[in-house]
Formats: sequence, structure tokens, C-alpha cells
Amino acid sequence: MNSKVKYGTNKMNATIHYLGSLCKRGHDYMGTGHSLRYKKFRSCVLCSKQQHTKYIEDNQDTIIQYRQRYYKNNKTKILQKQIPYAYTYYWENKEDINAYQKFYREQHKVRISNKLKEYRKTTINPHTQDLRPLPNRLQKINKRKR
Ligand SMILES: [Zn+2]
Repeated sequence: MNSKVKYGTNKMNATIHYLGSLCKRGHDYMGTGHSLRYKKFRSCVLCSKQQHTKYIEDNQDTIIQYRQRYYKNNKTKILQKQIPYAYTYYWENKEDINAYQKFYREQHKVRISNKLKEYRKTTINPHTQDLRPLPNRLQKINKRKR
């Protein structure tokens, strides 16, 4: 198993993790011959992640529906919470944010354009624009494509 690579950001955190016996999928933590496990559930960290990912993939429609329903029922509450924070944060960090976005877009040009293509094909959350207006550039692209 090439689990060494997969562990990536899953560094051991002694308050929530421990090194237990090797799990059934053989997720070897940094070549120790043990799997990184959650103290609380005794389950392997990577197995849990895989299960979670699989659950999300298998239940995408349900999750989207749930989120849309939740948003609809709690719109006011969500907006009250998010908008002031988002705007304050944006105006306070405008230059940093713009500079970072520019840098990020340059670094990930191809990936972003692929993602955008995919995104346009799939379901678009009609509420997103209410919550977080798209950057001008994206709005222009969206308009052009319609
Ligand atoms: Zn595992």
C-alpha cells in the first residue's frame, strides 16, 4: 500500500490520535507498521476519510437537497451571520485578497478553467450569488457562455 503519501496532512495529534494495530486496509502510518486511529472511535483515520468521501459521493443529491432546504429555511439567519463578516473581512483585506487571487489564478490557470467547465455543466447553487457574489471576471465569463 502506498499509504505513506496519502497520509499527507494527517499528522498525528496526540490528543485525538493514537497508533493502533494495522487496519484491515493496511494504512501504514509513516512506515511504523501501525495505523493512525481516532482515540474516540478507535477507527483508522484514513479508512474514516475514505468512508466519508464515499458517503458524500454516493449521496451527493441528498446532500445538495439538504443544503438547499437548510439554506431556504434559514436564509435570513445565514445571511445575517455571513454577510457582515464577509464584507468587513473583504474590505479590511482587499489588497491581500486580490493579490492572492491573482497569484492563485496564475498558478492554477488550467485547473481553474477545467473546473469552471465542469462547474457550468453541473448543478449550480442558485443561492451562491446571494451569499458570495462572484468576482467580476467570473460573472463576465458566465455571461459570455450563456
Ligand atoms: Zn485504514
